[in-house]
Amino acid sequence: MERIQPALTSSQPAPPPQISLSFSQLHDFEVCPVRYRFSQVWGVQAPPDELQPAHVRAVGSTELGAAVHEALAAWHNTGGDLLELYRGPELGREMLTRYLEHPLARTRTLAVEVGFNMAIGATRVRGLVDRVCEVDGRVALIDYKTNATLDADLLESYSLQLRIYGLAAKRGLLPGGRDPRLVLFDLRRGEPRDVMPDDGLVEQRVLAASTRISAGDFTLGPEHANRPCQLCAYRPICSDARKVL
Ligand code: SF4
Repeated sequence: MERIQPALTSSQPAPPPQISLSFSQLHDFEVCPVRYRFSQVWGVQAPPDELQPAHVRAVGSTELGAAVHEALAAWHNTGGDLLELYRGPELGREMLTRYLEHPLARTRTLAVEVGFNMAIGATRVRGLVDRVCEVDGRVALIDYKTNATLDADLLESYSLQLRIYGLAAKRGLLPGGRDPRLVLFDLRRGEPRDVMPDDGLVEQRVLAASTRISAGDFTLGPEHANRPCQLCAYRPICSDARKVL
């Protein structure tokens, strides 16, 4: 007699959902888990830029960053006149003019906006490298930043982004080889900053975040004391917003 197999029922625990993180999601979680929960778990849409207070718009400046990145990608891809390709706020034009004077702008481009998706433990990490180029015979992965300020905390955070790219290259997921130079290009000041690879740190930070996200742990700790509530679009609805700013 054929045995009837018991159906898989709710008594069997469902496997935990796989966590997938971009660098900006990882950054959000590290800076403020509450913010990550608003955007990634609860799906609360952040107000568009124009609805944010003027001081937030001035600092966040997503329009500026997007327009500069778009022009750089087009120019490094097809050439032409970088400043004519640019469509954005005047400040971006100044950054691009300064950039054109830097030798790195003229080095050979191998690829622009190169995506990757890799596993770190059970977590998928996605990324998009702004530019892959050749500098003095060595491949370099470049990430362009338009931030008004790059303090030590932000530099440390962006260094992690470059280190994630470095790990993806080491695994053969990016063009140009497994040991690239990692460069964060500060467009406001027209300066490149080299970042040293650190695969162990990447794995440690990704696993720490994904373990807490899987467990639904979005509690704030002392390390979030300086979370950027003043610039956060969720501030009007957030009960954890810092009172003294
Ligand atoms: S307002 Fe502050 S505490 Fe609330 S989500 Fe934004 S950064 Fe986090």
